[in-house]
Amino acid sequence: MLKFKDYQYVRPNLEEFVKAIELEKAKLTDEHDLETQYQAYLNISNIFDELASMITISSIRNSIDTKDQFYEAEKEFFNQEMPKLRPLSQGIAIQLLGLKNRPQLEEKLGSLMFKQTELSLKTFKPEIIPDLQKENKLSTEYSKLIGSAQIEFDGGIYNLSQMAPFTQNIDRDIRRKAALAVSGFFKENEAEIDRIYDELVKLRHNMAIQLGYENYVQLGYDRMGRTDYDHLMVKNYRDQIYEDLVPVVNQLRKRQADRLGIKEPKHYDFALSFLSGNPTPIGGRDYLVQEAKTMYEEMSPETGEFFNFMIDHELMDLETKQGKRGGGYCTFIPKYNSPFIFSNFNGTAGDVDVLTHEAGHAFQVYSSRNLPSDSRWPTMEAAEIHSMSMEFFAWPWVEKFFGKEADKYRFDHLAGALQFLPYGVAVDEFQHFVYENPNITPDERKAAWRRIELKYLPYRDFGEDEFMAKGTYWFRQGHIFSSPFYYIDYTLAQVVAFQFWVLDQVDHQKAWDKYYKLCTLGGSKSFLELLEAAKLEVPFETGTVKKIIVPIKEYLDSVDDKKL
Ligand code: ZN
Repeated sequence: MLKFKDYQYVRPNLEEFVKAIELEKAKLTDEHDLETQYQAYLNISNIFDELASMITISSIRNSIDTKDQFYEAEKEFFNQEMPKLRPLSQGIAIQLLGLKNRPQLEEKLGSLMFKQTELSLKTFKPEIIPDLQKENKLSTEYSKLIGSAQIEFDGGIYNLSQMAPFTQNIDRDIRRKAALAVSGFFKENEAEIDRIYDELVKLRHNMAIQLGYENYVQLGYDRMGRTDYDHLMVKNYRDQIYEDLVPVVNQLRKRQADRLGIKEPKHYDFALSFLSGNPTPIGGRDYLVQEAKTMYEEMSPETGEFFNFMIDHELMDLETKQGKRGGGYCTFIPKYNSPFIFSNFNGTAGDVDVLTHEAGHAFQVYSSRNLPSDSRWPTMEAAEIHSMSMEFFAWPWVEKFFGKEADKYRFDHLAGALQFLPYGVAVDEFQHFVYENPNITPDERKAAWRRIELKYLPYRDFGEDEFMAKGTYWFRQGHIFSSPFYYIDYTLAQVVAFQFWVLDQVDHQKAWDKYYKLCTLGGSKSFLELLEAAKLEVPFETGTVKKIIVPIKEYLDSVDDKKL
């Protein structure tokens, strides 16, 4: 059986690649018949898949061992060469959109791909290449700065993610000091972070103007590939969160403070859910993977086949190792029909989330592996539905991972998902304000953040930490820097995933069939079309949030959380 380590990597010959593409591209003209054009499109998709497979294999290997010089050099090679291929893709897009047979091709390939191709033409022209390069450079500066954190704490030196366990410590004073130490890192780098963000905002505004937009907002939406909703619909959604959910979350936070026995809770108290500590998995990597294997085999024939494929081909690199890049992700190698899951286990509940959330992404792409490359992955807000819903489908097996703490996990998981929503939309509202007012000062941005933060998270009291209190919490939210307007996607998907949780409580088979259908559709439809196809409620429509949180609140109210 071929394993990931045996997957062959050869540096692609880009001259041959371009030649092969040009040959197919020449068939995308009106002189050719529909079938020839259709085949040419599929062939182009396959040629790109071959290239993407090499890029992906090399980038996975680079992230597993950043000290390996060979794959580091390959990364450099792709960074240099890939932007040069952009005009070729643009050329294909222009020809495809101009075909007389476009309506017939849309019928065969779905109209979404055409709409997104139109967007890709709107959001790019060669004149903005220098701005795009500068944008990449600034994003990299930000992530390097965050990655370089060396925080002195309690006799040790830690990076930001290593500080997380201290911020959740059951000792209140350790939590307080840990939060202050993290805040201190951002305070030291305030001028630098202000500069990076200010340059990013002005740069993006400038790109928007060059491309003929009024400001960056719509360009941001278009770059996210959003074809069927706009900023007004998103505002209507945020308003629902404010009106219908914020009061519920306030109550949950009050309950949490009572549970912890704290009268005047500060922001550093809320990372701890229970006096006895947050739920932690009862085993390490091998144990958790073995239990996940049983879970997926019992869940459905499709998930059983999928997870065994991941194990048999060694498509998961889960443990933290020297030289390994931080964080986690799920990707796909088309040539081998293989999803790949990368993570850094650290002994917290997050390890189980990798085996449910990232595996949800992997299961979706595995289920739509036979679609053409443009239609394999959905847009981001739809992609998170699959991963977040899989976290809920795993509920009946939670005992396997958390033993006696399973109920604690379930309560925390559901409450945490609700509590996340106001924060998620605050991040979104902030970004709308920033890009609608590109010329305000860094201090005015901070004041705006604090105003929006207090609107959605009124319980957030920073106590003695004046630096956070002046509106700098968002400094740690990388999406704000690297992927503007992306963050709301997690909240939209969560509202849809809740619907799967509700249905799964009542009728598992029905919930599963609906979910599996959604997975096989991949990215062949837009967000709203996917919801329609699976008969799911639309988060933007007034009343949806209010209705969906009722059964969740009922469940949480029925739990005696003080006993957990
Ligand atoms: Zn995800």
